[in-house]
Amino acid sequence: MSNHPSARPGFATRAIHHGYDAYAGHGSLNPPVYLSSTYTFPTVEDGSARFAGEQAGFVYSRVGNPTTALLEARLADLEGGEAALVTASGQGATTSLLWTLLAPGDEIIADKTLYGCTFGFFNHGLAKFGVKVTHVDLTDPANLAAAISPATKVVFFESPANPNMRLVDIAAIAAIARGHGAKTVVDNTYCTPYLQRPLELGADFVVHSATKYLGGHGDLLAGAIVGPLETLTQVRFYGLKDMTGAVLSAQDAFLVLRGLKTLNLRMDRHCANAQAVAEFLAAHPKVAVVHFPGLPTFPQYELCRRQMAQPGGMIAFELKGGIEAGRRFMNALQLFTRAVSLGDAESLAQHPASMTHAFYTPEERVHHLIGEGLVRLSVGLEDAADLLDDLRQALEAA
Ligand SMILES: *Cc1c(COP(=O)(O)O)cnc(C)c1O
Repeated sequence: MSNHPSARPGFATRAIHHGYDAYAGHGSLNPPVYLSSTYTFPTVEDGSARFAGEQAGFVYSRVGNPTTALLEARLADLEGGEAALVTASGQGATTSLLWTLLAPGDEIIADKTLYGCTFGFFNHGLAKFGVKVTHVDLTDPANLAAAISPATKVVFFESPANPNMRLVDIAAIAAIARGHGAKTVVDNTYCTPYLQRPLELGADFVVHSATKYLGGHGDLLAGAIVGPLETLTQVRFYGLKDMTGAVLSAQDAFLVLRGLKTLNLRMDRHCANAQAVAEFLAAHPKVAVVHFPGLPTFPQYELCRRQMAQPGGMIAFELKGGIEAGRRFMNALQLFTRAVSLGDAESLAQHPASMTHAFYTPEERVHHLIGEGLVRLSVGLEDAADLLDDLRQALEAA
């Protein structure tokens, strides 16, 4: 870094170093984990100035902690945002942000396909408190232009969407939303900032489940919001502090910081392995369709090349034998592990209709484009040849 003081360091360098100066403390190579719920004030006057925001410093860990603050600085930098706020889970990020942005009478427009618990929060949570929830197929921006109204305060989507891998044109959607005074929120969990940076494409906020690729080892739950400082300060003092209390522990913030150090290496390997798996599945006679943005047959292949650095490590596919063949395939897997979640070193397989999206009604699954026979793979970091061997024998059993 010191050889090029004027150039902005690259992604990997920033993921390892941004915001931390070992020489400023005891020379500890790794950032300290501040296991303290509260912070001391030298005098009553200092305490009062800190509460008023007139003096820098920490007060109580529900609103800030030095270890979580370092993770926030690093994630804001990697996503290209002004500020970040970390939370106890991805669900805590989405709920803390939206409880702050929305009020009764407002409308949120969300894509048709959403992570299961995001769908639950919108339709069973926000809706109960008087927010109108409208689902629109955002893969065609014209649908947003037709549906958006003065009541629309937020447009929310994932790209690629969990679990069916549909992509949304972030720049096109954000431009329409902005023209109508609505904020665009993108769940960037599947990509991480290494593969896709929605804020640079015009989105207002990014939310993450850091439980997945950012942590990367399946050993923690964490979430993050990235966006403008002024609004994130409101989210910190209202959505997080008062409404959800979904505060990330310093210990888990440390583990996410550790995960970030290898994010680019891991994502490169996830992507290379997923490409090999997708090509293998697409050529297999028992496979009906593979949803993977890195296949030229993928309907939104061009959009993937435009807005994602690489197609990612997630694959969805359907077997010709439908749900029963899917069940036999899943039970025959030996190296792929049957589990929900994603982004871990271990390759994982799950069946959305009976697992992550099981609490949709069957009609809701049809409406939200989640096929009954869809199998979702999170392709891990193992040797590609071993992954293909396992899939080959499991497909024979299907
Ligand atoms: C897992 C996930 C979430 C929720 O995150 P948690 O950390 O489990 O609360 C939200 N969005 C997507 C796309 C996810 O995969």
